Amino acid sequence: MASTISIPRRLPLLVVADSVLLPGSAMRIPVKDMKNMNMVKSHVLSKNTLRSTIIGVIPKEAASLLDESEDISTLHPIGTAAVVVQVTGTNWPKPAYTLLVTGLCRFKIEELLQETPFPIATVTQLDKLPGDQDDSIKSNSELNSLAGNFREQAAKLVDMLDISIPVVAKLKRMLESLPSQHLPDICAAIVKASYTEKIQVLDSVDLTERFKKALPLLMRQIEGLKLLQKARKDKALEIVTRREGGRPRNMQRVFQGKLNTDVDEEDDAEGDEMADLEQKIKNANMPEQAFTAAMKEFKRLKKMPQHMPEQAMIRNYLELLVELPWSKQTKDVLDISQARKYLDDDHYGLEKVKIRVVEYLAVRQLKNSLKGPILCFIGPPGVGKTSIGKSIAHTLGREFHRISLGGVCDQSDIRGHRRTYIGSMPGRIIQGLKTVGVRNPVFLLDEVDKLGKSLHGDPAAALLEVLDPEQNHTFVDHYLNIPFDLSQVVFIATANNMASIPPALLDRMEVVHIPGYTQEEKVNIASSHLIPKQLKNHGLTSEQIQIPDETIRTIAANYTREAGVRNLDRKLAAVCRAVAVRVAENITKSKKDLSEKKKVMNVSLPEDVSQDASTLAHPPEMPIVIDEAALKDILGAHQYESEVSQRLTQPGVAVGLAWTPMGGEILFVEASSMKGDGSLTLTGQLGDVMKESANLAMNWVRSHSKQLGFKHDILENLDVHIHFPAGAVEKDGPSAGITITTVLVSLFSNRCVRSDTAMTGEITLRGLVLPVGGMKEKVLAAHRAGIKRVILPKRNEKDLNEIPSSVKDDLTIILASKLEEVLNAAFHDGFPSLSDDVQIPSKL
Ligand code: ADP
Repeated sequence: MASTISIPRRLPLLVVADSVLLPGSAMRIPVKDMKNMNMVKSHVLSKNTLRSTIIGVIPKEAASLLDESEDISTLHPIGTAAVVVQVTGTNWPKPAYTLLVTGLCRFKIEELLQETPFPIATVTQLDKLPGDQDDSIKSNSELNSLAGNFREQAAKLVDMLDISIPVVAKLKRMLESLPSQHLPDICAAIVKASYTEKIQVLDSVDLTERFKKALPLLMRQIEGLKLLQKARKDKALEIVTRREGGRPRNMQRVFQGKLNTDVDEEDDAEGDEMADLEQKIKNANMPEQAFTAAMKEFKRLKKMPQHMPEQAMIRNYLELLVELPWSKQTKDVLDISQARKYLDDDHYGLEKVKIRVVEYLAVRQLKNSLKGPILCFIGPPGVGKTSIGKSIAHTLGREFHRISLGGVCDQSDIRGHRRTYIGSMPGRIIQGLKTVGVRNPVFLLDEVDKLGKSLHGDPAAALLEVLDPEQNHTFVDHYLNIPFDLSQVVFIATANNMASIPPALLDRMEVVHIPGYTQEEKVNIASSHLIPKQLKNHGLTSEQIQIPDETIRTIAANYTREAGVRNLDRKLAAVCRAVAVRVAENITKSKKDLSEKKKVMNVSLPEDVSQDASTLAHPPEMPIVIDEAALKDILGAHQYESEVSQRLTQPGVAVGLAWTPMGGEILFVEASSMKGDGSLTLTGQLGDVMKESANLAMNWVRSHSKQLGFKHDILENLDVHIHFPAGAVEKDGPSAGITITTVLVSLFSNRCVRSDTAMTGEITLRGLVLPVGGMKEKVLAAHRAGIKRVILPKRNEKDLNEIPSSVKDDLTIILASKLEEVLNAAFHDGFPSLSDDVQIPSKL
């Protein structure tokens, strides 16, 4: 059947399980399942596809209706091409759309081109589009009389309806003017018929057959209607009139509603739902103000016509109100002696942090109030900040919820969007409360240092309101628009970098630093916590796998470079995965062996032997011990090697120590010189303070060139370039002062800096060494990198207490108060020309 106009050869498919769209009729299709949702999102809602508003609506095979799967093989081979007239819906709490479509013509699936994310098929158009000339009826006498009869019956049906209803009048006009070939589809669509009956009409590609299939349905409807009219003469009319006045429905529903005996089925369901919602509102134990608002919205909802987008919005709003924990709360079970035990159970080390947390909890208990500073754990990633937060919740017997603030730059993320447009939703605080379902959870505000700012208001300001005990008992989320009492929520915060927490927020917080772990601490954390956890996750036991401390040390040193243990944990998981595969293979293999043995020996082993996998899970090579070779096999070659000794083989390089939000790092500082006019170039993403340090260092070297034994003109005729590699890391701060000086001295004296030494310290113009921050992180980083000696400012001596003795024992720490002492320690054999006369600087 050729047609002058045609549908696209490729159609995206919308799979409909409970109704059948026939050509010429309109239908609302709720979109719920994944593939349909994908289709709507990428095909219908994408803006640049004009002709794509034509889709294929395809029924599921009747036999597979109970099947929840989205198996493509269950698609019916014939469907209806349709034009999408309207999309309504909402994005929150989860996306839900309704498509209004009008059927155009039948098609047959030729080939399925893709199944995911949504099915697309090449199709063949089976009948002509509305408006196309079709003379088949005129030329076929059987068809001609069938069509005549059908039209008569259809007219009879319409005549039985109340013509004073505009929709019925419209239907009457439509049936009169409609070419006969469209009658069976349209009538079958509007009369009451089962899914299978409608599928049969759809499958009738041949027009004669289609008339034959649709006619009985039409006749049945007329008979049904006659009976109904007899029984409830005026009542039926009344219903239609009431409905027409109250709720504009699509034509099909009015028609059906009047015709079907169970007119109010759908209405009843809706009524039930409404009553249900009302009951829920009453049971939600809301405070007065919330209840009044909820009832007001509920009344609006009741009056609102169905399928309006706004209706879904109100419903979502009411559902949120109902689900919020207005008065539900857990009972606190705080027991201070238990608190310490929980913290110890879940965390190795962290002595200071645990003491601080227990104090905090004790004060809470004594004061019996939640007012007071908010604990904020500051430290590099993977040091257990979140996990300490969870332990606090556990100790208090409260629910725990993490709210990630990284990248939040819009205050509506915290405080919600006003309910003025589709897709508006509450902020993260209210969403969190809905998720936990109680009003007194522990909220972990993760990464408060990563809050951004934008045109849409400052999220930090909104957060301040949330945290302020004077205000937060009447916290108003914009979406909710009614106060919610947050005073029972315990807030805890985490951050990597104290310097980037908005000052007003920091002011409310009590900072607890978690600086990062030493190699030894990591080994202990891994063996006492991470490995047992990973074994459990992978269904392994210590009889199957053993990871010796030496191996953990290698993983920590050569496969990770971090202050925390997150990557270490990941690598251990990778090891466990690999071993789990081996163990599983072994089990299957031994089972196979066993059954073969059974066959060969022709004996029947007792059933429980062959069933008991655990006896088979320990073939001779168990446990698998992860040694260096196994590690290489699983994780590949070392990812990190200590480069210190390689880098320091020439003059003009030294190792500095830097603090970053990720923990401490070692930093190579390089310098080179070339003929020129004595200018200084700095590269490697440096801040102003760092540049000043470089200038100070240069000036100090210049002014001491004589004592240092340099020829005076070297410095005047040379351009110096100092570079800080790892350009992606922004570096600022004065703590590289002594390192830069050392590099310059190394360059001009042509002597190598000791390759086992790293340093940090600020300098003054006069060559004094001033203290710097982040001492523990820096020393740990040096230790991690295999450095043996560190040069630190004398005035940082007090900070050394924080450094674990296992690290201090491994390191030689040189405390310097003057640059001369630094240089003396940085080079093999010291720097004799200076050390002879260390008093020089003070005389200058
Ligand atoms: P953060 O929040 O600081 O980025 P997490 O709390 O997510 O880090 O910790 C990462 C992982 O390391 C978690 O599995 C945690 O249990 C574990 N972990 C960190 N520190 C310790 C510790 N001291 N003892 C035991 N496990 C730890």
